[in-house]
Amino acid sequence: MKKFCLILFGPPGSGKGTQAKLLRQHLNWPHISTGDMLREHVQAQDELGREIADIMQAGLLVPDELVNRLVEERIARPDCENGFILDGYPRTVPQAKMVLNLLDRKGFGPVVAYLKVDYNKVVARLTGRRLCPQCGALYSLASNAPTISQICDYDGARLIVRDDDREEVIRARLEAYERQTMPVIEYFREASVALYEIDADGSPNAVRARICMVIPACRKEVAPAAGLGLQ
Ligand code: AMP
Repeated sequence: MKKFCLILFGPPGSGKGTQAKLLRQHLNWPHISTGDMLREHVQAQDELGREIADIMQAGLLVPDELVNRLVEERIARPDCENGFILDGYPRTVPQAKMVLNLLDRKGFGPVVAYLKVDYNKVVARLTGRRLCPQCGALYSLASNAPTISQICDYDGARLIVRDDDREEVIRARLEAYERQTMPVIEYFREASVALYEIDADGSPNAVRARICMVIPACRKEVAPAAGLGLQ
């Protein structure tokens, strides 16, 4: 049987991280977030972390070679053998080229879930987003607030605002998305990659059900009424 991997694609704040965390449990596939991997290096203040800290603070994209290398190394690990979820990667056409090539060599068919959401909602979601620095749980002040204000439900840690979720940085991230990431959609279409537009408005579980409908490994488990925008 052909092996699949899921690429979660969409602007910052479209819910890629939230969906990846839900789907990881569902599919039993590892969640590979380039944003998380890069933040770990920044936190560790290692050589790579020092090189990219300012770029990330400014909401700009880290150079392709660095991200490509991290992803290639991560996908080579044994836990990725049966499938994996890419979140926030690829984000440029050169990254897309490299990953399609790599997946082809490894015998994986990519399925792209393109999470579509209104831009105003994206800004509201990002400014209201809170992160647990300990376990990585994500909260939204509007739709998924912690039980006790500012405290993680799972481990009691004090929640933080990501450095790049400040309004001026959000603008730079959206600009980078439009300029460098949007062209990847066209590239995927030209390469005949299986790409599905998913309405990313709604509760996390409703969106998860829509994504499940396009993944061969879990399609049969969800109701057909999930509301797909197949292309
Ligand atoms: P994210 O957590 O996916 O929103 O990513 C946070 C930041 O990490 C981005 O604003 C970029 O600075 C950097 N980053 C994450 N993924 C990539 C990527 N695929 N290519 C370049 N930079 C990335």
